[in-house]
Amino acid sequence: MDIILWVFVVGLCAFLLYGVVPTVLFRTSSIGLIKRGEQEKTLALTFDDGPNPHYTPQLLDLLKQYDCKATFFVVADKVKEHPQLVQRMVTEGHNIGIHHYTHTDSWYLTPFGTKREIERSAELIEKTIGGRPVYYRPPYGRLNWFTFRYAKEYTLVLWSSIFQDWKVQDPGQLKEKMLDRLSDGEIYLLHDDGSNRTADTTAPESTIQALERFLPEALNRGYKCVNLDEHLDRKSKEQKKRIV
Ligand SMILES: [Zn+2]
Repeated sequence: MDIILWVFVVGLCAFLLYGVVPTVLFRTSSIGLIKRGEQEKTLALTFDDGPNPHYTPQLLDLLKQYDCKATFFVVADKVKEHPQLVQRMVTEGHNIGIHHYTHTDSWYLTPFGTKREIERSAELIEKTIGGRPVYYRPPYGRLNWFTFRYAKEYTLVLWSSIFQDWKVQDPGQLKEKMLDRLSDGEIYLLHDDGSNRTADTTAPESTIQALERFLPEALNRGYKCVNLDEHLDRKSKEQKKRIV
């Protein structure tokens, strides 16, 4: 076999082993990560990729209107530009999680790069809100073998429902999809920013419009939108741990 083909095959195998294999393994087994909560009638709305100066304030206003608490997995680079938005999230009862410093996919990060993305994000978030973040969600939900080593301080949270809302959608249809998935313990993955390469810039507009219709219906059905601390019952679990 010619040398170029050998290099290609070896490179492909290394890539699959480094990123794709752990991602498939841990996501299908749910070992070391959380995809849903255990409580009845609570729903965790999570928003990735922000803060965005145009959409995040609109979303925060909407959540406030319905007394909904959520969790924002923020990109630290954007936190640096809009710290006041992240401070507002915390003041209004939302949780903050790490979503890397530059939204880089873990499949393309070296072990050191993985460590740096997580550590630098945590430091900046701590400086901004005065407290250490608790949750971590890697971009695209992709892991490599070093993810758990460098994220061991954090609870790794993925999602139970995803709606492809990084693309512009009909808000009515998106609302229906969200209602169809409504059940105990759900963790919805949504986005308050559309600046990623694969996203539509104006996609958060349809997400917000869909939520305007979805939230009153979900609340009418007896659901409460809560942050991850409440959804995962973190505080009482910590108390129990201390007692034991
Ligand atoms: Zn993302």
